[in-house]
Amino acid sequence: MKKEKLIIIAAPSGTGKTTIVKKLLSLELLNLGFSVSSTTRTNRDNEINGRDYHFLTVDDFKEKILNNEFIESEEVYENIYYGTTKSEIHRLNNEGKNIIFDIDVVGGLNIKRQYPDTSISIFIAPPNLNELKNRLINRKTETSESIDYRLNKASKELTFSNKYDFVIINDNLEEATEEAKGIIYQFITKK
Ligand code: ADP
Ligand code: 5GP
Repeated sequence: MKKEKLIIIAAPSGTGKTTIVKKLLSLELLNLGFSVSSTTRTNRDNEINGRDYHFLTVDDFKEKILNNEFIESEEVYENIYYGTTKSEIHRLNNEGKNIIFDIDVVGGLNIKRQYPDTSISIFIAPPNLNELKNRLINRKTETSESIDYRLNKASKELTFSNKYDFVIINDNLEEATEEAKGIIYQFITKK
């Protein structure tokens, strides 16, 4: 169960972690498999059920909680749940992949606690909150209410960065991705 390495990537929404995770997944030498989370939010235009997330109703999500199917789950935003199922970990372990998680800052620490020796936690930080706001606006996926909510939450989330093994500031995307690649490569090749 704990053979492969777990790579935890957390950041406030809009920082760029999904963009960075996608770039890392394309690097064969890292042998990464993406942990597809479950969520109760609706899918964005470019998102595919089962690839980006498992999109569930709140009732289905709560049933999975009761059935103890998650290794962690959070109500990240009001009435919007996100969680990592045990079956995802099993699936990727069976495929012999190192598992990469795109996860909120609390969930990331939760996984780190459960796998202290086989996981590495990386916090991606935005250069500043103004730039974070611009990224959320430019992504064109959120209402102005959702942007305000996410920005408000981001200020609190940033205080968690010192609990992570590494912090990378995503100012220049290529540089941030290179930095993450170096950290992950060193970790997965460590004896
Ligand atoms: P997250 O997964 O953290 O919510 P995304 O990966 O969706 O964030 O990125 C949010 C937006 O910011 C996207 O439109 C993405 O293209 C853009 N972005 C990501 N990194 C950078 C960067 N270094 N500079 C400018 N824009 C970026
Ligand atoms: P988004 O709605 O922007 O895709 O994600 C919102 C937040 O939920 C992000 O911080 C994202 O990383 C986080 N998230 C995604 N999947 C999970 C998960 O399985 N568990 C937890 N705790 N958070 C998740």
